Amino acid sequence: MNRPRVPVAVLGATGAVGQTFVRLLRRHPFFELREVAASQRSAGRPYREAVHWLEGELPDAIGDLEVRPCTPEAVRSRVVFSALDASVAGEVEASFARAGATVLSNARAYRMDDDVPLVIPEVNASHLALVRRQRRVRSWEGAIVTNANCATTVLALSLAPLHEAAGVRTAFVATLQAASGAGYPGVPSLDLLGNVVPYIAGEEEKIEVEASKILGRLEDFAVAPAAIRMSVHANRVPVEHGHTVCVTVELNRAVEPEEASELWRRWRGHPLCHGLPSAPDPPLALCDDPDRPQPRRDVWAGHGMRVLVGRVRPDPVAHLRFAALGHNTVRGAAGGSVLNAEVMGRMGLLPDVKEGAW
Ligand code: NAP
Repeated sequence: MNRPRVPVAVLGATGAVGQTFVRLLRRHPFFELREVAASQRSAGRPYREAVHWLEGELPDAIGDLEVRPCTPEAVRSRVVFSALDASVAGEVEASFARAGATVLSNARAYRMDDDVPLVIPEVNASHLALVRRQRRVRSWEGAIVTNANCATTVLALSLAPLHEAAGVRTAFVATLQAASGAGYPGVPSLDLLGNVVPYIAGEEEKIEVEASKILGRLEDFAVAPAAIRMSVHANRVPVEHGHTVCVTVELNRAVEPEEASELWRRWRGHPLCHGLPSAPDPPLALCDDPDRPQPRRDVWAGHGMRVLVGRVRPDPVAHLRFAALGHNTVRGAAGGSVLNAEVMGRMGLLPDVKEGAW
């Protein structure tokens, strides 16, 4: 059946995440990419000239679009994907929500606000109901819905089945984060080639609080964060795409590697995601080989939307150890946002989309 597609825009369309949006949206069955917007440096130019296109072919029809400035007067779509630089996202995204647009944001500005959903839909689609509180409290016709920091996404997805079954009490986490996670041009090559940088500004704090909000429970239109004690080391490594997290967990009861593996194997995530175009089936997969997952070999699993778990073993201090890998600009950013929008459409939370139509 041919249904009319919802017109959408991408803000920050020239950056690393913005380009990923363009690739994911160009043939989307529910959304039609009508507008691209970026800074004043790019506005007014054809997209193909303004963008430093990073991967594969730039679709002709998108290359011809004129880049708009990031204002609600210049961008008319009522569904807006934001890949804006964090320094400007706060103000710009609010101006769109005030003007009636539903903004699906990748920036950190609103993630921890009480009335803003921070969503990985397989884990906490129910938190999207916060949009109704947000509209009431802020008197916005539109809304802001966020997805998590890219490393948080990999961590929270891998913890979800364990948390649902046995309650995670403590998590020690070391991340190995790809270069593309810093955007384009990102970290200078001479700082990163043949090197590991044991510092990513603000990252450890973000992962600690965001994972607890995502794994928390929605009670009376507020999220009670999961009571997980978390200790994170964030590292930048010379990998192109794919964030790895090495995790040691203590649970509320002992869980053997065999039981944990079965939990990961069986987990299908929230039913609202099932069958949607961007939802990987299954959302998690278990690697049997002892030396996997690896970014070079595994990062495109499920078109970059599946998180892989491996190296599951007992831990002599806590209960379990494992490694997990996910694509940072797809699962951890643009693809996550697009899936949020698909679920919102299914729930009747997008303009002009009837509940259940998708
Ligand atoms: P990026 O490559 O640096 O791209 C930034 C984008 O923001 C560009 O399109 C840029 O446009 C635009 N921009 C900058 N200043 C602006 C202004 N004053 N007004 C309007 N637009 C402006 O960054 P990125 O890696 O794609 O990240 C985008 C957002 O996603 C950030 O908030 C980041 O924290 C978040 N995020 C990134 C990842 C990842 O893996 N990279 C994962 C999760 C979340 P011009 O080209 O015109 O300058």
